[in-house]
Amino acid sequence: MPEADGADEALNRVNMHSKPSDLRIIDMRVAEIVGAPFTSALLKIYTNQGIVGLGEVRDGASATYALMLKSRLLGENPCDIDRLFRRIKQFGGHGRQGGGVSAVEIALWDLAGKAYGVPIYQMLGGRFREKVRVYCDTDATVPSGTETGKRLKQRMELGFTFLKMDLGLMQIADVPGAVVSPAGSLEGYRDHPRRGALKTIEERRVRNAVYDLHNVPHPFTGLHFSDKGLDFLEQYIAEVREVIGMDVPLAIDHIGHISVQNGIRLARRIEEYVPAWLEDVIPWQYTEQYQRLQDATTVPICTGEDIYLKEGFEPLLRSGGVSVIHPDLLTSGGILETKKIGDMAQDHGVSMAIHMAESPIAAMAAAHVATATENFMALEYHSADVDWWDDIVTGLPKPLVKNGFITVPDKPGLGIDDVVDEVISLHLRPGVTDIWQPTDHWDDEYSWDRTWS
Ligand SMILES: [Mg+2]
Repeated sequence: MPEADGADEALNRVNMHSKPSDLRIIDMRVAEIVGAPFTSALLKIYTNQGIVGLGEVRDGASATYALMLKSRLLGENPCDIDRLFRRIKQFGGHGRQGGGVSAVEIALWDLAGKAYGVPIYQMLGGRFREKVRVYCDTDATVPSGTETGKRLKQRMELGFTFLKMDLGLMQIADVPGAVVSPAGSLEGYRDHPRRGALKTIEERRVRNAVYDLHNVPHPFTGLHFSDKGLDFLEQYIAEVREVIGMDVPLAIDHIGHISVQNGIRLARRIEEYVPAWLEDVIPWQYTEQYQRLQDATTVPICTGEDIYLKEGFEPLLRSGGVSVIHPDLLTSGGILETKKIGDMAQDHGVSMAIHMAESPIAAMAAAHVATATENFMALEYHSADVDWWDDIVTGLPKPLVKNGFITVPDKPGLGIDDVVDEVISLHLRPGVTDIWQPTDHWDDEYSWDRTWS
């Protein structure tokens, strides 16, 4: 017997042109990793013909969102992507709750592509572009715009042609007089709910309190930027532009949990620095507030990474409240749904950027959609500083993101040959002891799921 990697690869080749009609799902397993730079669960869907489909549960989400779907998929032909998606889509939701359905949908496309020997972008209608523009996100953790500008300049020297940075609450939270805040509320945002096993009731109580604080929607936080705070933020972006120049697109994220009125004030202050977009100023659900925000500024307003399904984007697009949409394939419902979302946005004269903060599996899923959707603008990339990111998989160009672009190979499915267990095993989520563990306990999960009588 050849070694395991070689065997998988050989099986993939043997079965590419075998019998798609007889292909059946027989198992589903996960490998949960951290530090890529985020936490995510890589997903494998196994078949009776030896080919394996790869998917990924969104950054920060629970693998349970995918595993609970297993019993509803076993025995099915994975090539019936849309039919199976419609069966399971009721078990997804906005934000990370869309992570399970989306992970499965991507793995089904990978399997269908491998079964028929066709790249995913081709099954979506073919290419609009030879390579996919990638934008490099850079967390602005330093209080100096000039320093952040230098970091962004380094990204440009690596070949990136599109940038994003933070500009908002967390840069001025420690500046006296910059933020108006109800006593105690600002401190809570510095802490994040931690994963992992908790030992005492008190530990659980503390985590729940932090969790609740982070779930207060923007209009109800009572946080406001003062003129001093806005001066600081304007100065910050001015310094960044001073270093990187005006020619390169620069998107803005992580404004903070502030009101739409503060969003308008900030947007107007930074118009002259021509941001590519201002992202998630307020929760995407507030359609009328988005409309007010976009009407009040020339900065393109953007949201979408937490919206599940096409119908979630529809009111925003109809209202004119957004100029750029920003779905994450691992929340939106996966590959076909994001293609549909992009096409719908195009009908409204709105372009599509794609949010992505996971492994090369998620990156390739997004890159296939980006290749096959006309109004695509740029795909997010968070892992420029993670030196093992490319080593998670085999079969792709290395590095995958080269000179600021991804070139999608002309290979079946996602285009990935395999995942590298040795690399994944070095980055297990704390509390997880192994990868691709049996999930038999999900085989018989069942309920009468119909939502009408
Ligand atoms: Mg964002």
